[in-house]
Amino acid sequence: MMQDGASRCRLGVLGWPVAHSRSPAMHNAALAFLGMDAWSYQRLPVPPALFEQTARALAQSGFRGANVTVPHKEAALALADSASASAEEIGAANTLTFGDDGSVAAENTDAPGLLAALELSPRGMSAQILGAGGSARAAAWALREAGAREVKVWNRTPARADALARELLVQSVPEPRAADLLINCTSVGLLGPPSGSEGASGLEPSATDVAELNQLALTFDLVGEYSHVIDLVYGSGPTALVAAARRAGARALDGLEVLVAQGALSFETWTGRSAPVEVMRHAARAELGRGDALTRP
Ligand code: NAP
Repeated sequence: MMQDGASRCRLGVLGWPVAHSRSPAMHNAALAFLGMDAWSYQRLPVPPALFEQTARALAQSGFRGANVTVPHKEAALALADSASASAEEIGAANTLTFGDDGSVAAENTDAPGLLAALELSPRGMSAQILGAGGSARAAAWALREAGAREVKVWNRTPARADALARELLVQSVPEPRAADLLINCTSVGLLGPPSGSEGASGLEPSATDVAELNQLALTFDLVGEYSHVIDLVYGSGPTALVAAARRAGARALDGLEVLVAQGALSFETWTGRSAPVEVMRHAARAELGRGDALTRP
């Protein structure tokens, strides 16, 4: 059954896990601010085996669009009927738009979102990316396009970093190297600290911080070598990486600013309205302030 475009007002975020996502709070605040009462944005927890059929079903169920998060971004591009040139080059999509004929169009707003959050030009800078999934692809493409001098990629599974490096014309490395800019594009830290542990907010590194940095093949000394650090992961407090970078005197951002910047671009794609960015930022931060980040069981 095809949907009438006028009744196509549902939005959501597809992920696994997705309970951590601040996108619903952020987008619903923007919709309310603009008086778009018929619209709504919801979490859509979908395991990988059900991703394609669920995304296609959304197109038939009153959905105008969906964000796509971990681990579905590459699958999102693969299932789309059309894609922007940048999403094609990146090899991953975080924004799907559903047409009235049931078609699916893919876009990648992670790349421009990252550059907007960085607040400085990476032209001439060296960069170390951690991870080789959908967001690492967007980061590598964005930095290369913006004129970074060198972009290195490390990943837990080296073959995936090698493939990314070949396709996006950057360099894969067997361990992270010192650089001007470090971007964590892995899911390490996504679940927050184990319940009962102090987490990364203490003045001294905890055993959890050390374990988290170890998963990223980093040491505290190496973290001190980067002047700018972005951790795409965000939670109710700083991640171990952000805390370590700040202790070392680096300028460190968590993923919230990237979330707001990519979300604003997705919002404009779906609704054709200017995104109320301050409202979105405030809603995302307020949600974080509730201290309800996921903890491991
Ligand atoms: P993805 O495609 O599933 O990739 C996940 C990456 O994390 C892979 O490189 C994977 O390595 C690595 N990884 C997972 N567990 C690991 C561990 N225990 N130790 C070391 N590496 C590990 O996910 P994605 O879409 O790129 O997203 C990655 C993260 O960025 C997620 O936490 C997501 O929430 C966050 N993100 C945030 C924003 C934002 O707006 N703030 C935007 C995009 C993404 P293997 O290849 O070895 O499995």
